This record gives sequence, C-alpha cells and structure tokens, in this order.
Amino acid sequence: MNSTHAPILPGSTIGMVGGGQLGRMFAMAAAKLGYRVGVFCGSSDEPAADVASFTVCGPLEDHSAIEAFADRCDVITLEFENIPAETIAACGRHAPTYPDASVLATAQDRLLEKSTLRDAGLPVTPFMPVHNADEACKAGESFGWPIIVKTQRSGYDGKGQHRLENPEQAANVDWEGGGDWIAEAMIDFEREVSVLVARRVDGQCQTFPVFENDHQNHILDLTTLPANISTETETKARQIAIEATRCLDVVGLLCVEMFVQKQNGEQRIYINEVAPRPHNSGHVTIEGCHTSQFEQHVRAICGLPLGETGLVAPAAGMINLLGDLWGEDGTQPDWPAALSVGGVSLHLYGKHAARVGRKMGHMSAVGESLDDVTARLQKARKLLQR
Ligand code: ADP
Ligand code: MG
Repeated sequence: MNSTHAPILPGSTIGMVGGGQLGRMFAMAAAKLGYRVGVFCGSSDEPAADVASFTVCGPLEDHSAIEAFADRCDVITLEFENIPAETIAACGRHAPTYPDASVLATAQDRLLEKSTLRDAGLPVTPFMPVHNADEACKAGESFGWPIIVKTQRSGYDGKGQHRLENPEQAANVDWEGGGDWIAEAMIDFEREVSVLVARRVDGQCQTFPVFENDHQNHILDLTTLPANISTETETKARQIAIEATRCLDVVGLLCVEMFVQKQNGEQRIYINEVAPRPHNSGHVTIEGCHTSQFEQHVRAICGLPLGETGLVAPAAGMINLLGDLWGEDGTQPDWPAALSVGGVSLHLYGKHAARVGRKMGHMSAVGESLDDVTARLQKARKLLQR
C-alpha cells in the first residue's frame, strides 16, 4: 500500500452510521481489535448504541449532527444501505467513508443496481421497469408467468413485493402507492446462496465460503455452510461476487444474494440483489469461520490485512430469532432451555419491543455435519417456545 493508503491502526475511532444489530456486532468486533466506535443513529435505544464508545443521536439528515459525529472519527462506515447518500457524502468531507455515496445511490435503487451489474456482464435475474398493470402484463408475456414485482426503493425482508401468477393479478397491485416498480422473472431456484466479499481501498479482495440460505415468508430463517453446491458453482459464485464488488467499487463488505437454478444438469447462477454492508447470512461467520464478517469489515475499511475466511469445523449454521417467539404480553422466550443444548451460541440484539417478523437475535452452531448443526439449532429454537 502507498502512503495515502496507510492503515488506520487500533486505538483510532471508527464511525458507524446506523444503530441496528449489524452496527452492534460491528462495534463489538472493532472493540476486540482495540478500536473505539462512535455510532450515529436516530435514538439512544437502538441496538448499537448500547455497546458504542460514544453515540450521536439525531436525524440522519441533520447537518450539525453529521458534523458532531464525523468530526470525532478517523474512518466512517455504515450498516444499512438506505441511509441518505447525501449523509454519507457529508461524512466523507470529514473522514474517509466506506463505501462511498455512489455505492449507496446504486444499492438503494433496484433498477439502477440491476442495470449496473447487467451492463458489467454479470448474470442478474431478468428484469424490467414497470409502472402499471399493462406493463406488468408485458413483463409476464416476455418472462413467462409467474413474475415478481418489487418497489424500486426501500424494500427489505420481502416488503414491497408481490408475486403475480397471471395478468389478472396485476390489477391488485397499488401501482401509485409504492413509487416506481420493477418486474422480475420468477426463478424456480434449486437453492438460494449468498457470497460475502471484503475489499480494501487498494483493491485487495477476499471472499467467504458460499452460504446457503433458507427463507420463510421472504425473511431469512436458516443459513448453512458449506453450501450444497458443486465446487465449480462455488468457484463461479465467488468470482461473480468479486466482479460485482469491483464493478460497484465497494470498499468494505458487499454481500451478493444469488439464486442457483438447475438447468440441463448444470447449476446456473443469477444475482438477486446486493448489499454493501454486513449481512444477516454472514452472522454464521462469527462462530463458523476463522474471521467473522464484522472483523473482516473492520480490517477492510482500516486497511489491515484481510483475515482467513475458512470454516473452523466441517459445518456451521445460523438460525434467526424473530419477535414471533415472544409472548403477546412481552414474555421472553425460554433462554436457559435453549442454552442447555450443547454447542449453541446465542446472540441477542438488545431490542426492547418484540414484533412479529422483527429480527431480535440469532443462534449459531458449528459441528461435524450439516445435519448435526441444523438439528441442534432447530432443537434449541423449539425449546425457546414456552
Ligand atoms: P429483500 O430486499 O426484501 O431481501 P429480495 O429481492 O431479496 O428482497 O427478495 C426476498 C426473497 O424473495 C428472496 O430471498 C427470494 O426468496 C424471493 N425472491 C425475490 N425475487 C425473486 C425472484 N426473481 N425469483 C424467485 N424468488 C425471488
Ligand atoms: Mg434480499
């Protein structure tokens, strides 16, 4: 690295924009490496605020709050992509900020994101912009039914999406209410996977092994590692993810969500979407890999050597804990019961209010086989229910 890329050493202060669980686990990993972490978020109730060295609370658009925060930081990063790109640009005037505002602007807009990746020659799910039922029908004719329509901006955990089986169903969408839309071919995938890449400012990249993901109601439920795919597909998926990271010029982490489809006996890969930050599927790396995604994020933005990403055991898994596990009166799940299952690690995000579908924590396990790991995780989650 040349002198402009000198590493930002332990003892320095890292700024984290966003106060959710990803920011919380990032701050814990950074603290382990001897950094101080300042969190900029909406309120002192948020999960990351609990574990930060200092917190600046205020609207993320507020320029005096941005200044008060960014002035105290040696390097700045973020934990969700729907932060106003302007906030990240303003942070960048005080300290190096990764990823930069242009990455956010692209990742906030499904149409721009998919077009950028497609134009770089990467395999994305077939898509087209649509504004109304007529255009959705044209998409259905072109891709074949069913299709899936998504709001172009600010969707997560399946929010703002509709699966349309036929032209009639296109009339049910509130085309005016959601802003702009895109339609996508519905991929009858064999499995869903994700690849996490860390990239430093000098361009050096490192991928994690491919994660396999199981969703329930469009929300990630279970991640397992290694993914049940061929070695060729594993290599190809990691290569595609690196190319996506370079194409978007990401510094920090990029998670690339993919569909693997079986076609004529071969596994074909489509990119679904990307996220320039730590990812829920990457939580499995905390116990499952030599370096966690959060530590790798710290290393990448600070210009430190990237860590080993291999598995520490033959298999690892992570299962999400949603607010559905809490009683209607707020009763907590039976933590001691779950913790009695050998080798299961519990992570809770310190959220005060449990709601259906809200990510409250996760559990992970490592072991000799995928069957063993998933059996222990399912058993522990079952024991949580009172
Ligand atoms: P979000 O931003 O809500 O994560 P995604 O585009 O990742 O949105 O969609 C959520 C889930 O819905 C995916 O993980 C996948 O299970 C399913 N899905 C989304 N798009 C498609 C598609 N084109 N074909 C098949 N399944 C899809
Ligand atoms: Mg997704």
